[in-house]
Amino acid sequence: MNADPALVVLEHVSRAYPGGVAAVRDISLTVALGEAVAIVGPSGSGKSTLLNLIGTLDVPTSGSVRVDGHDIGSLPDRSLSALRARTIGFVFQQFHLPVGVPIRDSVADGLLYSGTPLRERRRRASAALERVGLGHRLTHRPHELSGGERQRAAIARAVVGEPPLLLADEPTGSLDSASGAGVMDLLGELHAAGTTVVVITHDRDVAARLPRRIEIRDGRVVSDGAGRHGLPGHHEVSSAAVVTGEVGAR
Ligand code: ADP
Repeated sequence: MNADPALVVLEHVSRAYPGGVAAVRDISLTVALGEAVAIVGPSGSGKSTLLNLIGTLDVPTSGSVRVDGHDIGSLPDRSLSALRARTIGFVFQQFHLPVGVPIRDSVADGLLYSGTPLRERRRRASAALERVGLGHRLTHRPHELSGGERQRAAIARAVVGEPPLLLADEPTGSLDSASGAGVMDLLGELHAAGTTVVVITHDRDVAARLPRRIEIRDGRVVSDGAGRHGLPGHHEVSSAAVVTGEVGAR
C-alpha cells in the first residue's frame, strides 16, 4: 500500500531515443493523489514520451519514475504490468474500442486482469457506463455511437476497475467542440469524485479546463501552475528547476 500522497513522482527524468534525440530532459514533477493536471506543449515537445513514462509503458534513460510508490525502473515486467493494470486507466484520442463489440463487453474486458467473474464484470461495466451517461447504450457497438459517446465508453472502460489515476492522451482531439466539452466535464466529474486525472494535450483551451498546467517545450518543463489564465498559484519556473517542492517553497 502506498502511504505517500504523491501518486506520480518524476525525479530528474530524461529519455533519449537511439540516434540521440533527447525527447525528455531532466524533468522533475510530482502529481499528488486527487490532483487534476494538464501536461501541455506543442507537437514534438515530448508529451507522448512523458505519457509513456508516467503510464509505465517506457522507462527513463536516467532519473527515476515512481508510480504509487513503486520505482518503475526496478520492477520486473510482470510486476510492472500488474501495477499498470491496477493503478492506471488509459484514454486515447482514437478511443480504441474494439470494432463490432457491444460497449458493455469492451468495458467489462477492462476487468479481465482482476479475475472478476463474468457476471460481476458485466454488472460493473453497466454501472460504469451509467456513470458516464451511457446506461441506455449498453449493447450498442462503437459504429452505432457518436464520437463523444465513444469517448465516454472508452472512459468507462478506463475507470471500471477504479484505478487511482486516469491518464488521457488528447482525449478531445477527435471530437467537435461540444462533444469535447462534454468529455472534459466528465473528466471533471471523475476528478471531483476522487480520481487523479492527467491530461496530455497540445490544446491550450483543453489545458485551461484543468486546475494545474505543466507546460513543456523541447523536453523540459517551462512552467507549472495554474497557467496564464490567472488562477492564484501560478509560478513561472526556469527550465532547470525542480518543479514541485521548490516552487511551493518560494
Ligand atoms: P509530442 O508527443 O509532444 O509530439 P514526442 O514525445 O512524440 O512529442 O517526441 C519528442 C521528440 O522525440 C521529437 O523530436 C520526436 O521526433 C522524438 N521521438 C519520439 N519518438 C521517437 C522514437 N521512437 N525514436 C526517435 N525519436 C523519437
